[in-house]
Amino acid sequence: MRRWPRPGDTALVVLLLLPLAVALPRLGGLAGPPELWLTWVGRVTGILGLALMLLAGAVSCRVPGLDRPFGGLARLWRLHHGLGFAAFILVMLHALALGLAAVPASLDAAVATLFPPLSHGAVWLGWLAWAALVVFLAPTFDFFGQPHYQRWKRLHLVSAAALLLGLWHALLLAGEAWPWWLLGLAGLGAIAWRKGVAPRRRHAYRIEAVEPLARGVVELVLRPEGSGIRHEAGQFVYLSPLDESLANGRGEEHPYTIASAPSDGRLRIGIKDLGDASHALQTVAPESRVLIEGPHGEFFGRRFPERDMLWLGGGIGITPFVGGARDLATGAGPGGHVHLFYLAHDESRAYYGQDLEAIAERHAGFTFTTHFYRDLGPLTETFLREHCPDFTEREIYLCGPPAMNAHLQRLLAGQGVPASRIHSEVFDFL
Ligand SMILES: Cc1cc2nc3c(=O)[nH]c(=O)nc-3n(C[C@H](O)[C@H](O)[C@H](O)COP(=O)(O)OP(=O)(O)OC[C@H]3O[C@@H](n4cnc5c(N)ncnc54)[C@H](O)[C@@H]3O)c2cc1C
Repeated sequence: MRRWPRPGDTALVVLLLLPLAVALPRLGGLAGPPELWLTWVGRVTGILGLALMLLAGAVSCRVPGLDRPFGGLARLWRLHHGLGFAAFILVMLHALALGLAAVPASLDAAVATLFPPLSHGAVWLGWLAWAALVVFLAPTFDFFGQPHYQRWKRLHLVSAAALLLGLWHALLLAGEAWPWWLLGLAGLGAIAWRKGVAPRRRHAYRIEAVEPLARGVVELVLRPEGSGIRHEAGQFVYLSPLDESLANGRGEEHPYTIASAPSDGRLRIGIKDLGDASHALQTVAPESRVLIEGPHGEFFGRRFPERDMLWLGGGIGITPFVGGARDLATGAGPGGHVHLFYLAHDESRAYYGQDLEAIAERHAGFTFTTHFYRDLGPLTETFLREHCPDFTEREIYLCGPPAMNAHLQRLLAGQGVPASRIHSEVFDFL
């Protein structure tokens, strides 16, 4: 599968360079004394930094289907983080370079360039945008530890302020304003969509059953109140429970993979107790309502590839494969053969084991093998080859805890499997 560049990446690069291309003729040349090229660097980093900020906002819009040209929502989220981080660095360089450019004149001139009288509103708008960016990004700095997800999401409103102030700063200073209107519309429009439109487009479901699978793991069976969503195997949704009696997480949206086949009239979602909200969901009231947004993602691409596949699922990361196997069981499967390895600590943690075994018994194109860490330690190349001799020739899909993922990526790379044939999903967007 092609990883880079995806069509969406190309569109992003074009949009990123647009304001710079339009402004370039006015920026002068690089040749000359240091203050000239420092001014040039300061302006270019400012233009690129703000364009990156607005594009980071634009890609966060979460319109179902828009993630596809980028290779799925998980990859789009990584892009969003990368763009935001790069924007922060460039905005810092922008101020630094413009300040340094004035140093040869005098130190006072440098200070006055960065901190002019208040009447120079454009500069102060830039500083306010920078301050909003710092407040927003500070919780992600390592020494503060892992940010609390819901708090971090609420802080995103500060990032909207940063975009607005930055845009205003640029509109006051730019020669040609239209590229900024275009990017501003994309960035701020995306936020307006997320906060205003998307919540109204969610689908209402009722919880038909809460089926315990193991200690701390349940499967919710959801019945649509209206037409419901249409999905493909391996996709996920954002689920917001409305049950009044929930101790935590009521109304919060959390991503969960759909573990039912696309043709199933019910949505099935396996939920592991990993924190406050997922703990409360273990005892959510049957017949209470949930709101579903999505589907998102493209773990298996648009459809299963027409070649043999190796699926490696561990812990709750088994859910995309459960959805995939249930899809195969309806006869909607791929052209090739599928071999699923279920990596669990021990038999009691292989909570979907019986379902998967039953599918393997009925379906010749699907083989199922369990691997228990407690008995065998980490999965080895020998174990894989013993059960699936041609595993290195297959299209490979991984989903599981980060340590398992890293171990499997190393193992497969060590066997010469090209990265382009390995597809993995992480259950964490932070
Ligand atoms: C694409 C995807 C698919 C997932 N599929 C499943 C699934 O099928 N079954 C399952 O049990 N879990 C799944 N998860 C994980 C699930 O979203 C988290 O366990 C849940 O959000 C934890 O929330 P909490 O309040 O219980 O725990 P917290 O203590 O808030 O968080 C526990 C962990 O989950 C992450 N997390 C919390 N909230 C979110 C959020 N809104 N978005 C992304 N990450 C978050 C945190 O970074 C932390 O690492 C999936 C996650 C992603 C990104």
